Amino acid sequence: MRIFETHAHLDFDDYNKDREQVIKNCIKAGVERIINIGIDAKTTQKGIELSNKYPQFKATAGYHPSTVHEFDEALLRKLIPNKHIVAIGEIGLDYYRMYNNKELQQQIFEAQVKLAIEFNLPIVIHDRDAHEDCYNILKKYSPKKVVFHCFSGDVTFAEKILNEDWYLSITGVVTYKNSNLSDVIKIIPKDKFFIETDSPYLTPIPYRGKRNSPEYLIYVIQKIAEILRIPPKVIAEQSFKNAEQFFLKP
Ligand SMILES: [Zn+2]
Repeated sequence: MRIFETHAHLDFDDYNKDREQVIKNCIKAGVERIINIGIDAKTTQKGIELSNKYPQFKATAGYHPSTVHEFDEALLRKLIPNKHIVAIGEIGLDYYRMYNNKELQQQIFEAQVKLAIEFNLPIVIHDRDAHEDCYNILKKYSPKKVVFHCFSGDVTFAEKILNEDWYLSITGVVTYKNSNLSDVIKIIPKDKFFIETDSPYLTPIPYRGKRNSPEYLIYVIQKIAEILRIPPKVIAEQSFKNAEQFFLKP
């Protein structure tokens, strides 16, 4: 089984003591590709460094809603053309934690959507309690390749995204008892979903509470397989192909 991790933060300090070992474990678990997601200029740079070091890695460039107050467009423009940058992200809106006010979040999100269009790159969306505003800002520019990372909406919002031909990405949240993602998963066309861990966060059951790692993607795969009554290796392969098409084929 080959596995494509579409969203991890392996550059975070959480892995400073054993990053090398974690990456070895991932490769051993069949994780052949890892997209390391930037949340600001520094983490974008670190993603590029990981990609220079490990052939499994690619990186994204962007300012997360929590860092938009640091937004430096000139710096971002210098990072984006790097050969390892395969998408703009994670960018979007977070009205749950509200690290920055709505106006600033929207303004910087929109500026980065424009950059994605200009550089012809896919977009990785962070949307927390901001479904409509995320959708409306994207809709102004109608980018072709968009994924809602850690999708957290209901079936109606999922349909809205799928109508645009955009993608939904599923984390370990699907393994949690209170998750209502199974109804969403049942309506996603097989070429429109990815899997991800969002490591170090959102660790799937049975490791919930511990630091996450892409090696635990198998639990996300198994849960989706159970919901759809499809063999896990079919889920892994389909999500691999989808992610490859999205991130690695310009
Ligand atoms: Zn993330």
